Amino acid sequence: MAKQADIIIAGGGLNGLIAGMVAAKAGYKTLIVEPQSAIVMQNPQLDATVKDGRASTIAATSFALLKRMGLADDLAPHAQRINDIRVTEADPLWGVSPFFLHFSADKLAKKKPTNDEPFGYVIENTILRHIFYAHANKCDNLQILHGVSVAQVDFTPKTDANNNDGKNQQQALVTLDNEAQYLTTLIIACDGRNSKIRGQAGIDAMQWHYKQKAIITAVHHERKHGGVAVEQFHPSGAFAILPLCGDEHSEQKSAIVWIERSETADRLNQLDEAHFLLLLKEKFGDFLGDIALAAPRQCYPLSFSHAKKYYQHRLLLLGDSAHAIHPLAGQGLNLGLRDSAVLWDMLEKCRRLGLDIGRTENLHDFERGRKADNHAVAAMTDLLNRLFANRIPPLRFLRQLGMHAVNKTPPLKNFFAYRAMGVKKGMSDKMRLD
Ligand SMILES: Cc1cc2nc3c(=O)[nH]c(=O)nc-3n(C[C@H](O)[C@H](O)[C@H](O)COP(=O)(O)OP(=O)(O)OC[C@H]3O[C@@H](n4cnc5c(N)ncnc54)[C@H](O)[C@@H]3O)c2cc1C
Repeated sequence: MAKQADIIIAGGGLNGLIAGMVAAKAGYKTLIVEPQSAIVMQNPQLDATVKDGRASTIAATSFALLKRMGLADDLAPHAQRINDIRVTEADPLWGVSPFFLHFSADKLAKKKPTNDEPFGYVIENTILRHIFYAHANKCDNLQILHGVSVAQVDFTPKTDANNNDGKNQQQALVTLDNEAQYLTTLIIACDGRNSKIRGQAGIDAMQWHYKQKAIITAVHHERKHGGVAVEQFHPSGAFAILPLCGDEHSEQKSAIVWIERSETADRLNQLDEAHFLLLLKEKFGDFLGDIALAAPRQCYPLSFSHAKKYYQHRLLLLGDSAHAIHPLAGQGLNLGLRDSAVLWDMLEKCRRLGLDIGRTENLHDFERGRKADNHAVAAMTDLLNRLFANRIPPLRFLRQLGMHAVNKTPPLKNFFAYRAMGVKKGMSDKMRLD
């Protein structure tokens, strides 16, 4: 016989864990289904094949959401403030451009609504997942099923009980790959960019591959980074240096995201450590003194995917299952966290008014609250990647002129700085900085 859950979350990645906690906090009996084992979830370092070597930039407003969820005290010791962001352009022929963009959180501090917040924080993904998972495990109303995945969803099952016009419109029937069955009012697909559930529901997505890969690693450096994040745009892809806390907050460790065309990335990935470090030093420069590798390399193929719609009867898409974007601006997870903030608002409203959370009218509110923002950020990151890939000299001149103009025009500069923090009109109160 099928068991019952108000909400089933397919996928216990970063977005699934947060969405699960949000649903439980809004008062719904929630079940997260995740194929990974409990051992791996508790300590991802145990298994090198599933270890996520990335670090994520968490925008100030995203961190405010995590604070409201009660996660900030545990995250804070591992969260490196981003005080400054430096953006520049480099080219194998022309070298590093003299024009750059420099955002400083100090300069913004006196302005509302930043309240002395940094632009955001950088936190290693293994730590994020470990802390999210620990909190999810302690959350009332929330259960996590490990080592199983969602195999099939019937959105309008025929059941003996509750048979409306031959179809049960009240609940969806979720079958797991161990054949267990659950009836649920809403299934939230957090099963990543290649979402199987999105496919089963017949929701189309705009998708393409970038023919680029991101090489992820970390370095120790002689000098302190001072909370400065650096982004260099190269024609073959962006190169980012993201400040990490380092051992005992030494500020002498940074995460590297090195994006290259796929063939070049494969070659870099196959080099021995000494040779790779040599090339990395060339790219990194010497502004932080000598560097040494602090983590093994990992390689991520880059692709784009944006679902044409985020819902249908008894189904909601959230996080990468709805929108997976180019990582050059470090915004993918931030978009997912904003999805969860809007989900929280929607579920609270449904509970208050006694509405059915799986009805399309209510799910449409979620899409209306999220689609424009997701679309704008997805388009902006895609455009930046294409724009900087182009080496035509007039375009290069215009880009540099543009950077210089933004850098010298305070209102424009503040606009981009607020966007980096995730501050925008109409955002959920759950993300407010205070
Ligand atoms: C190189 C790189 C750097 C990035 N840097 C940043 C950054 O700095 N800042 C930022 O905001 N974002 C960043 N991102 C984006 C961010 O990492 C993703 O947006 C985010 O991790 C997506 O999380 P998710 O939970 O939606 O999906 P996933 O992490 O893909 O998780 C999906 C989960 O679903 C599970 N699953 C799959 N199928 C099923 C099934 N049938 N049933 C149940 N469970 C299932 C999987 O096991 C997995 O745990 C980066 C991305 C890349 C590639």
